[in-house]
Amino acid sequence: MAQLELSTRVPEAADDGVWLACIECGATLAPFAAVVYTCPECDGLLEVRYDRYPTFEEFSGRGVWRYAAALPFEAGVSLPEGDTPLHEVPRLREDVGVRTLRVKHEGMNPTGSFKDRGMTVGVRVARELGVERLACASTGNTSAALAAYGARAGMETLVLLPAGKVAAGKIAQASLHGARILEVDGNFDDCLEVVQALAERGEAYLLNSLNPFRLEGQKTIFFELLEGFHADEGRYPDRIVLPAGNAGNTAALYKALRELVRAGSLTDDDVPKITAVQAEGSAPLVEAIEEGREAVERWDDVQTRATAIRIGYPVNAPKALPGIRATGGTAVAVTDGAITDAQRDLAREGVGVEPASAASVAGLRKLRESGVVDADEDVVCLTTGHLLKDPDAAAAAGTEPEPVPNDADAVLDHLG
Ligand SMILES: *Cc1c(COP(=O)(O)O)cnc(C)c1O
Ligand SMILES: [Zn+2]
Repeated sequence: MAQLELSTRVPEAADDGVWLACIECGATLAPFAAVVYTCPECDGLLEVRYDRYPTFEEFSGRGVWRYAAALPFEAGVSLPEGDTPLHEVPRLREDVGVRTLRVKHEGMNPTGSFKDRGMTVGVRVARELGVERLACASTGNTSAALAAYGARAGMETLVLLPAGKVAAGKIAQASLHGARILEVDGNFDDCLEVVQALAERGEAYLLNSLNPFRLEGQKTIFFELLEGFHADEGRYPDRIVLPAGNAGNTAALYKALRELVRAGSLTDDDVPKITAVQAEGSAPLVEAIEEGREAVERWDDVQTRATAIRIGYPVNAPKALPGIRATGGTAVAVTDGAITDAQRDLAREGVGVEPASAASVAGLRKLRESGVVDADEDVVCLTTGHLLKDPDAAAAAGTEPEPVPNDADAVLDHLG
């Protein structure tokens, strides 16, 4: 498994064994000397690199900061995050027809999505850089997480949201945690362009997943997932299935795997297949995989009920596509109807997720039915956000409330 190689040759720019490297041209940069998001030479994506990569044995403690040996700092602005459950879902496993199915529920983080793992690291870096104002564009969860971690850090936060396209729970969070909420008349991709322009003018520190430090925090999902699966099952999963929007998490998964291989904790044979799922109305990454293209083409019009993955131009595609290919994985698109069915399937096992999260299970089911996934596979699906994030979607997918009289006999009659 190569493609994006991790060199441990320390460049001059390194600070205490940490530096930034451009994945396109290889340029290296000092990590905390100046605010930088993309390569000054070629505008390529940056990746955080280290002089060494730790083995599983070097991790201790709890949550995201258990993995401090693989992060740029020992501790961060923490609420705390991580330590999310790796559910067994026996009926769903049986129904889908794989050897093992576990669900890593990232909705159980402090603000209800995996974005918290990126923010605990990202806001720590913001402090290191001495910036005053934090900002992000968001389909909702990034803004909820940024608002909470910014509040905790005592920093001003600015969130740019596509007007009318963000689920109620997420806006409520950003609002109560005191972010300034700017509703843009456009889609997520437009919001990102505006906030990037603000960041380039030095008006705010950008904490979208274009920021390479966010992905460092999100790597810990997969360290935790692999450790947990191995502890329970005595082996590593064959496949990890996850929803993809900007494909930051897909990129973080690939980086976690490369680091563990580099450290010697995983062999090439242990490496799970990275399997990304998008909604049919918003599937530029799937299109790039299916057509064997090196880059994604922007979709100007994106539609799906799974608002967290309603993204037409996945910024992390150059990091994610090589990972999907290098691990023998794939990408698949599912309908909104299949997403809602999967949301119900998970809910029936007691696991409450928002629509985007359920895309992972819908994708697995589709790939199992088409024979891409074998019956003897050990699979982990990632569910990225909590049911309460999008109460309207949950209510629409669930049972209808039944009006009854205020009387026990009448209620019994009604029950039949
Ligand atoms: C952000 C988010 C995603 C998409 O993650 P990417 O890293 O952008 O691919 C999926 N699901 C939920 C619930 C999210 O909040
Ligand atoms: Zn470059």
